Parts: sequence; C-alpha cells; structure tokens
Amino acid sequence: MNASAKRAQDPAARPVLDVQAVHKRFGDQPVLRGIDLTVDRHEVVVLIGASGSGKSTLLKTINLLEQVDDGRIFLGDEDITDPRVDTDRVRARIGVVFQHYNLFPHMNVLDNVTLAARKVFGTARADAERTGLALLARIGLADKAKEYPDRLSGGQQQRVAIARAIATDPELLLLDEITSALDPQLVGEVLDLVGDLKAAGSTIVMATHEMSFARRVADRVVYLKDGVIIESGPPEQIFDRPQREETREFLSRVR
Ligand code: ADP
Ligand code: MG
Repeated sequence: MNASAKRAQDPAARPVLDVQAVHKRFGDQPVLRGIDLTVDRHEVVVLIGASGSGKSTLLKTINLLEQVDDGRIFLGDEDITDPRVDTDRVRARIGVVFQHYNLFPHMNVLDNVTLAARKVFGTARADAERTGLALLARIGLADKAKEYPDRLSGGQQQRVAIARAIATDPELLLLDEITSALDPQLVGEVLDLVGDLKAAGSTIVMATHEMSFARRVADRVVYLKDGVIIESGPPEQIFDRPQREETREFLSRVR
C-alpha cells in the first residue's frame, strides 16, 4: 500500500508536516522556489545545502516567522498558511532551536525550560517544574537547574534549549544549525541528544552541516540548492549513490 492509501485508512498516518509548492522571495530575490516536503510521525528529515540555499527560510516559514508568497503548509490537518490562523497557537505545537541566543539570559535554566508550559499552556508552576526537572535529569543537567545560561558551556546551553523546545511535547521539532556556533568538542553532546530524541520518537526537521551525523540519524536527507529540492532520499542514497550531478558536486565540496 502506498503512503497516501495508508493515510486514507489511518488518520494517525497523516504526515505531521506537509509543505506544498511553497514559494518565498525577499524583494526580487526568489529564495524558495516550489518546495514540496512531507514529514511523517517519528521521521527525522535533515536539510543540507550550501549557505544561502534557503534552509533557514524554509524552517521559518514552517514556524510562521516568515510568510509564504505562494503554496500551503499543513501541520497535521491544519493549513497554517491560512491568514486567519492563530500564530501563537500554531507555534505552541512546534519546538524550535536556532544556532544562537535560544535562552533568556535573565532567567535560570529551570525557568527557561518551564516558561512556555506556564505562560502558554497555563500549567501550574509546581507541575511545570516537576516536568522540567525530570527533563533536565534526562539530559544530564539537573544540577544546573538554578544556574543562569551564561554560567553554562555552549553545548550545555544548546541542550537546555532543546529541553525547552520539547518541554511542552510539540508535534514537530525544528532545529536550525544548532551546533554551528559551538566549539568542535561540544558538538557531540548536542548531536547525541538529538539522537536520543529520535530514539524516543520525536518528529524532527533539522538543517545541519554535520554530514556524518546526517548519515547516522536521518531517515531522509533533503538537498536544497537555490531554493529548490534537488534530491531527497535515505542517507545511503544521498551520500553513497546520489542521483543528481548537483548533489555529487555539493558533497564533494563539503567532505
Ligand atoms: P541558509 O539557511 O540555507 O543558509 P537562508 O534561508 O538563510 O539560507 O537564506 C536564503 C537566502 O535568502 C539568502 O540569499 C539570504 O541572504 C536571503 N535572506 C534570508 N533572510 C532574508 C531576509 N530577512 N531579508 C532578505 N533576504 C534574506
Ligand atoms: Mg541557515
């Protein structure tokens, strides 16, 4: 049975994310030129491509930080590009971590992790903190609960940012080059945590330059060039048997 027939029978098999023919331009520069991308539950999709290829813009349109010019994006059943959509409510269903500045510097680690639960979902502080502490224990940072972010290493900060992003159990996690600003020796601890999330069943779309990580963890690798998906497939296809000359050429430059 193909994927769409399976979905018709089982609503739970609907994709978490369905990006349909999305176009985005900045001024007269087209940045996304007809992106189609579906992401199923528990799937880890890794976006690769040169700097400027549109990876961040794509992630931002999904999180409604940028409006699409054309096309539609569905989160589950909901067309989130519908202008009447409640942006805050959509964002509450998506966890996001960027390259930089994810944590509020004036709040301790636990308050950072529990903020959304308390403010967006109205969870009582004691309940939010119980969940938050369990989450910090899971990522090995329970002893940092009362520290402020500037007392943590970059790798620890990004692990807390991931904990914050998953604290409210989002349907989808968007990770945009979350290790690019880290010293090389701190990259592993952050990527290991992403591997743990995959093992626990998270649905993730992630832009990264870490090709060996992409090979290990991605269910699907998507190669983006100048706002177009050139090729997409399992890591063995993309890295070992790329079908397109552009993909081969890009990979020969990055490794
Ligand atoms: P990537 O994340 O793959 O490096 P981006 O999505 O950040 O690529 O950028 C794609 C293109 O869009 C680049 O040429 C970039 O300069 C341009 N761009 C991104 N954001 C903006 C913006 N807010 N205003 C104008 N141009 C932008
Ligand atoms: Mg980017």
